[in-house]
Amino acid sequence: MKLVKLIANLGYGSRKQVTAMFREGLITDADGEVLYADDKVEHAAIRIEGEPLDPPAGLVLMLHKPLGVTCSTKDPGRVVYDLLPPRFRRRSPLLSTVGRLDRDTSGLLLMTDDGALLHRIVSPKAQLAKVYEATLAQDLRGDEAGIFASGTLQLESETTPLHPAALEVLGPRHARLTLTEGRYHQVRRMFAAVGNHVDALHRPRIGGLDLGDLPAGQWRALGPDDLDRLF
Ligand code: URA
Repeated sequence: MKLVKLIANLGYGSRKQVTAMFREGLITDADGEVLYADDKVEHAAIRIEGEPLDPPAGLVLMLHKPLGVTCSTKDPGRVVYDLLPPRFRRRSPLLSTVGRLDRDTSGLLLMTDDGALLHRIVSPKAQLAKVYEATLAQDLRGDEAGIFASGTLQLESETTPLHPAALEVLGPRHARLTLTEGRYHQVRRMFAAVGNHVDALHRPRIGGLDLGDLPAGQWRALGPDDLDRLF
């Protein structure tokens, strides 16, 4: 792909604007040598005003979604795209969230511009474990783990029962729940179905990938090792 198109597709500007950036000498190699639009250069060697070029298409990133932020492109409040460099909204192909977390849920959110990978992750066939930690309004009764594991629990307005889910009690009002599907408000609705209420919800892990020490509001691009851990 021509350098101008490559850089424009990453959201740095229109092709006209990127052409002007070349003319102004803002685009260089790793040694600071000015590049020209027709040069053949490795992606990793390109610098824009001294900064490495953003990762190419095929990007998968993990975001530590804080509370109060919506997984949406259009929302009057803060959205996950506000946590990324502004040019990420202009990337082509666009980055999408892989599934969603509610505004009032924090934790690990994946985003990608790779449609095939997105479908592979969300596909029911993948049965990827999504781990949630819930803080509850009431003490656990003791029968929840059996109900959630039964594979017979049917939520209101759903036509099929939920897949079996694993509940680990961490405290009287604190539990870890592992799901292999992702229905609308699933964790909150599951606890509501057993007479409880989720006061706080956090997702620390998807598959074998966890947030680690990534601070709330921060993101990082995933590499091949991360993706191996995911599946
Ligand atoms: N279940 C919920 O209820 N909310 C989330 O954000 C994710 C799972």
